Amino acid sequence: MQEKGNISIHTENIFPIIKKFLYSDHEIFLRELVSNAVDATQKLKQLSGIGEYKGELGELTVEVSFDEKKKTITISDKGIGMTADEIKKYINQIAFSGATEFVEKYKDKGDEQQIIGHFGLGFYSAFMVADKVEINSLSHVDGSEAANWICDGSTEFEIKKGSKKERGTDIILHINEESEEFLNQARLQGILTKYCKFLPIEIKFGQKDESIPDGEDKDGKPQYKTVKKDNIINNPSP
Ligand code: ADP
Repeated sequence: MQEKGNISIHTENIFPIIKKFLYSDHEIFLRELVSNAVDATQKLKQLSGIGEYKGELGELTVEVSFDEKKKTITISDKGIGMTADEIKKYINQIAFSGATEFVEKYKDKGDEQQIIGHFGLGFYSAFMVADKVEINSLSHVDGSEAANWICDGSTEFEIKKGSKKERGTDIILHINEESEEFLNQARLQGILTKYCKFLPIEIKFGQKDESIPDGEDKDGKPQYKTVKKDNIINNPSP
């Protein structure tokens, strides 16, 4: 399976509009992509709850990671996943009428939230910080074929058979030159803490050092040792 096609939108100019006006605050790309990952995970839990998904749910943590050398940020979930057809349906078709007028109307009012919400443009906020975005996904539906979608922020995309073996979705952002500030542990930790504290699914971002008790020394003084623990941003069950 290999296919090339065009993202259906009413205007060729939508990407520049998204990049320049819609999202004044570039860091929100992470909030949008993590929310999508959480939504996909919640949907799977619901399907499992009503017996429509019969497989093991397993561990459902959403994971955010980055690679400074490759200049990538990856958001991974073990949610419902998408087939190639679903990617084409949900991601490619930003087909809405009156888009230009609507964006024109709201762009100066600083009301990005309304625009993002209205069109479900959350995913495309990735293109503020990435010059190439990849989706690797495997649907939860038995017998599905993994799909790999690549788009460079133009209206052209490429979709082909993927190699993902585990259910869920990886969104890989190839970070652009102006956005390299995001390839940084402290910066990402800060954004995640700001936006993801209260999400209902565990968000993991690398590992952290934790000090744990380690017996006593010969004078009876408590000793501690440092161990690596998963760095979990939020507490989904407070
Ligand atoms: P919204 O989330 O507001 O609908 P988005 O542009 O962020 O708009 O996403 C469009 C659609 O793509 C989602 O509604 C969902 O169906 C699908 N999608 C996005 N990310 C994922 C994901 N990680 N797993 C499964 N489906 C996803």
